[in-house]
Amino acid sequence: QAGRELLSDSDVGRTIARMAHQIIEKTALDSGDPHVARVVLIGIPTRGTTLAHRLAGRIEEFSGVRPAIGSLDITLYRDDLRSKPHRPLERTSVPEGGIEDALVVLVDDVLFSGRTVRSALDGLRDLGRPRAVQLAVLIDRGHRELPIRADYVGKNVPTARTEDISVLLREHDGRDGVYLRQE
Ligand code: 5GP
Ligand code: MG
Repeated sequence: QAGRELLSDSDVGRTIARMAHQIIEKTALDSGDPHVARVVLIGIPTRGTTLAHRLAGRIEEFSGVRPAIGSLDITLYRDDLRSKPHRPLERTSVPEGGIEDALVVLVDDVLFSGRTVRSALDGLRDLGRPRAVQLAVLIDRGHRELPIRADYVGKNVPTARTEDISVLLREHDGRDGVYLRQE
């Protein structure tokens, strides 16, 4: 039922910690350099937002700098809304201080075709003009249909289109874990 385990509970914690270190290193957010852009994490609901909060906590723990966190509901920006099952609108929250001139790190649980990220880029445009945008995903399962790649990847998982990644997070599911399921 749960499928083949790709990341155990403790693997998920370690993976998020590693991604936090990589974000600190690549963005130099703790450099103290006034020319370095302010880092803002923006999660794509639901689990992307939860991951953004986790990453922010680890980044603060490791660097002493707590990035602002926001959330971007991309439902309205999907170009294939009609082919998707209806789901209620999820909240967008603009991070403290906005995104103007910030280095925005979009955060999501799974990267697949890239269409969600493309929509998120459209959504960001309505919030302001960041200096740069990067992408962090816990799982990259392949099958991209657009020229989009992640800057930070927890785990690359080659999948068949018929398979499905199940991402469990403590805040929603009582425990952490990533599983590969056959449809
Ligand atoms: P894309 O837009 O890149 O095709 O799909 C990415 C979005 O759909 C993400 O927000 C992600 O949550 C969801 N998604 C796509 N494939 C999977 C999957 O196999 N498992 C899970 N849990 N989410 C997926
Ligand atoms: Mg999603």
